[in-house]
Order: sequence, then C-alpha cells, then structure tokens
Amino acid sequence: MEKIPVAVLASTGAVGQRFIQLLDRHPWFNVVALTASDRSAGQCYEQACHWVLPTPMPDWAKDMPVVTTEVGSFDAKIVFSALPSSMAWELEPRFAEAGFLVCSNASAYRMESDVPILVPEVNADHLGLVEIQRKKRGWKGAIITNPNCTSAGLTVTLKALNDAFGIEAVISVSLQALSGAGYPGVASLDILDNVIPYIPEEENKVEEEPRKILGKLVSDQIEFAPFSISAHTNRVAVSEGHLVCFSAKLGRNAAIPEIKTALETYQPPRICLGLPSTPKPVIAVFDQPDRPQPRLDRMLGNGMTTSVGRIRPDPIWDVKMTVLSHNTIRGAAGGSIYNAELAYQAGLL
Ligand code: NAP
Repeated sequence: MEKIPVAVLASTGAVGQRFIQLLDRHPWFNVVALTASDRSAGQCYEQACHWVLPTPMPDWAKDMPVVTTEVGSFDAKIVFSALPSSMAWELEPRFAEAGFLVCSNASAYRMESDVPILVPEVNADHLGLVEIQRKKRGWKGAIITNPNCTSAGLTVTLKALNDAFGIEAVISVSLQALSGAGYPGVASLDILDNVIPYIPEEENKVEEEPRKILGKLVSDQIEFAPFSISAHTNRVAVSEGHLVCFSAKLGRNAAIPEIKTALETYQPPRICLGLPSTPKPVIAVFDQPDRPQPRLDRMLGNGMTTSVGRIRPDPIWDVKMTVLSHNTIRGAAGGSIYNAELAYQAGLL
C-alpha cells in the first residue's frame, strides 16, 4: 500500500514528540511535514526540539525542517494536531476547510455538537458526525478529536460496565502524571515531595467528555449518556501514566467476578479489528492487590491497553476500582493515530 502523507502540528512538545515516535515506521502513514511555533520554524527538528523520550529521535526526523503552522506550508492528507487549545481554535478549522483530516488532541473543538470525541473501541459509530460537520461548515476536510488524557482509559472501562450493567453515577479521583502538563510543565520545586490537588480546567473535562463518548448518535447529534460523574483531579510526581480510582453505582446488582469478566472480555467493534493501533487486549484486568502501577504497567499493549485492578465492592455504591492508561500514548498521540486509522478504514479520506 502507498503510505498516506501526514503532518504533525506542534511537533516539538510532549505530545508532538510522541507522534514522531509512534509514526516512525507506521505501516499506513508517512510523515512529510513538521510544524511548531514561529520560534522554531526555520530550524531543523533536531535543533528545535528538546527530545525527552527514552528512545532515540528517529533519523528521518532529525533533518526535517520545522515549518510554520499554516495552510500552504506543506501538502498532506492528515494533520495530527498537538496545538495548545487557543491556537487549535484558530488554526484547526483552516486546515479542515482546506481539505485536511485534522486529528486533534486539543480540547478546543471536543464539545462542539458536530465534532466527535472518538475512542474507536467505544464509539466508532460517532464518525457519522463527520458528514454532518462537512455539510454544516462547508468543509472538505474535518476535525475529529480524542478525549482528554484522563478520560481516555476511564471511558473504555465505563463503556464495558455500561454495556453489561448500566451506570447511574461515578465518582473519580485521578493521580495524573507530569507529562500531562506538557514540557517543561510543572516546576520541579512545586511537585517534588508533593501532590498538587488542582489541574486547571481538568475536572469539567472528566465530568463531560466520557458522557459524550458514551452517548448515542441520534439523527444529527449526540445524546449524552444519562449518568453523572464527579471528578477530583490531582498532579503527582510520576513521569507518564494517569491513574484513576473510581466508585460506580451500577444499573443493576452485579457480583465482582461478573464485573471482572465483563471487563476482561470486552471486544472492540469489527471495524477496529484490522487497525494497527487496536490495543491487545483492550482491557487488562489485574488480580494482584497492588496493580496496576504507572511504572510497571503503562506500556501494556504498546501503551494503548487500559489496565484495571483493585476491583472490589463499594460500601456505599456497587463497585470501586483503579484504572491506568498512558497519557501521552493512549490519552494523546496514540489515540489520535488510532482515530486516523479508523477514519481511513471507514473511507473518510
Ligand atoms: P507542550 O509540551 O507545551 O507543547 C506545545 C507545542 O505547541 C510545542 O510544539 C510548541 O512549539 C507548539 N506551539 C506553541 N505555540 C504555538 C503557536 N502559536 N503555533 C504553533 N505551535 C505552537 O504541550 P503538549 O503537552 O504537547 O500538549 C499539546 C496539546 O495536546 C494541548 O492542547 C494539550 O492540552 C493536549 N493534550 C496533551 C496531553 C498530554 O498528556 N501532554 C494529553 C492530551 C491532550 P514550540 O516548541 O515552537 O514552542
């Protein structure tokens, strides 16, 4: 197969670097352009980027010129966007209008009624919004988004529970890694020997995005899932991997072994089965009392698997458990690449 030309917008930051790493030797996509701010444009990628990943920067990326983030700077079919949200609001529609499929990590368009927040193994059918978006906005391309990094693994888990038992309410507490704040992110003197019990604009995302993703596409819009989520979000001194502890009130009584089975046997829809990024397994269930842990378990399924453990009765509601997912892979670049694979498979390019 001839590879599809793609570009990475804001390629020098925490998420941009993950894109470069994950797109290295991708079977379907070939990176033809890298962008960043005007501060970096004109330099080669190796000069412009302070590479912080534990694998070497791919050779093909080192000499690539970093160009400005504007339509006309390059030609490609897909743009992967790791833009800061305010810039995404302004720039992503220009690319969609010019015919690019924009696969965005930014929060800017996630809650727009004609823009899907996609998690392929949960709501592949929400791709149907793309046609509505194109009609409404007159775009030849489109914007599709992936959820905020904390919502990603939580939503996969809630989907399996909702399908099997229904969900009436959720309370979650997240312990979020430093890379979630970008690079350089939180100052070391603020986070060493510490937990910061506040992440700006995070709690409302965790309370809303899973309900949109688990919603139903009815005629031309999403009916949000009818349960509520109360979220607490905290920053902790972990490099990668967001841990979320949650309690859920289910729609019906369920024994713990039944809940474990529902999670372990959860299968993605057929359309996901041949996609290069489909996690294997989708959900890994741990029986050990002290797992999952970020350092040990975040790379399961190449960083795309959702890990769940500590599944036990909740004395107030029905069940409580701990979920781990890799924030810059599953919750950002990897999720976005997975969405592009789905869109390609669905014939949207
Ligand atoms: P980051 O490490 O701070 O990187 C910011 C990037 O944006 C850099 O490449 C920077 O380029 C570029 N940039 C800044 N201003 C720009 C402009 N005016 N025009 C074009 N590019 C510009 O941030 P990040 O963590 O990668 O986050 C990127 C996006 O992904 C954000 O919207 C974030 O909310 C979202 N997200 C992040 C995560 C995560 O785990 N980190 C997860 C999900 C979603 P220069 O190097 O030239 O300054």
